[in-house]
Amino acid sequence: MTSFSARSALPAGVWVGAARMIVLAAALASTATTWAATAPPAVVHALKITVLVTNLAGDPGKGDGEWGYSALVEVDGHKVLYDTGASAELVLRNAQALSIDLSDVEDVVLSHNHADHVAGLMALRRELSKVNPRAMSGVHVGEGIFRPRLTRGGEDRNGLKEIRAQYLATGGTFIVHDKPTQLWPGVWLSGPVPRPNDERNWFPGLSLQSPHGLIEDNVPEDSALLFNTADGTVILTGCGHAGVVNISEYARQILGAQPLLAIVGGLHLFAASDATLAWTGEKLRSYHLLNLLAGHCTGIEATYRLREATGLGRRSAVVSAVGSSFTLGHGIDALLLAQ
Ligand SMILES: [Zn+2]
Ligand SMILES: [Zn+2]
Repeated sequence: MTSFSARSALPAGVWVGAARMIVLAAALASTATTWAATAPPAVVHALKITVLVTNLAGDPGKGDGEWGYSALVEVDGHKVLYDTGASAELVLRNAQALSIDLSDVEDVVLSHNHADHVAGLMALRRELSKVNPRAMSGVHVGEGIFRPRLTRGGEDRNGLKEIRAQYLATGGTFIVHDKPTQLWPGVWLSGPVPRPNDERNWFPGLSLQSPHGLIEDNVPEDSALLFNTADGTVILTGCGHAGVVNISEYARQILGAQPLLAIVGGLHLFAASDATLAWTGEKLRSYHLLNLLAGHCTGIEATYRLREATGLGRRSAVVSAVGSSFTLGHGIDALLLAQ
């Protein structure tokens, strides 16, 4: 586990605004001891997460589904796009179908390198920068996201392999985080998540180069957005490759052991065994999970098992469709099919 250990351990004043070229990790380490006595942890006051891409289509005429994920975060006047879908244009098309304007979104978070989360980035940057040159101009990522992911034949399958150079050529920047970072007051990017629980939530078969040779690619960069609210912690995760229990435990270290107000996103549990789902649900129940908007690779049966194991109901544990949302103070809007 990393050296910081509580909600008070990182500086409130460190957040990313216009200074996009900064890599914050080094700054955090040197100031980590001073904040606890001087400032209460920041909370967000208004938060809405709207799912723009997930596997299940939403209401008629309100967007299409695909194997991938993207969600728009609106938090205290800031907008952030978390992941960009699997096909080039679907985030744009679904946003249009949902009457959501993305041209004022300047910050993006990519949860990890897989193509079903990063492939829409260039179309978004190219299209929206015609309206606003700063649209989609800064991308926050976890340390290690650019490392080659090798097949047995040595081919690199990193989903950002070609996109990286194309994106930089547009004037966009990547901001790499190797530690939890407060992007805005109360809004945290986890950076790489420690894996004390052996959840193994990824497709096997790719390798990473390490100083000791090739090791299995466990998607080490996988990063979640965390929101500190007066009602508890909200977690937004793309594929949950770090494991939703590992992510939840890390969130509790960063923001404290308050209730988990909501988990939103993909949990990669579609093929999990009955025992794994029961264990996962029991863990989430012990963290007082209150809402689950589970999309993408979570799996439909897995969502129902988690609903049962956590003691949640049909309004608070939902299969996420395109356009579904979680709003602070309101809860989940499941739309028609998944209500
Ligand atoms: Zn993935
Ligand atoms: Zn995925």
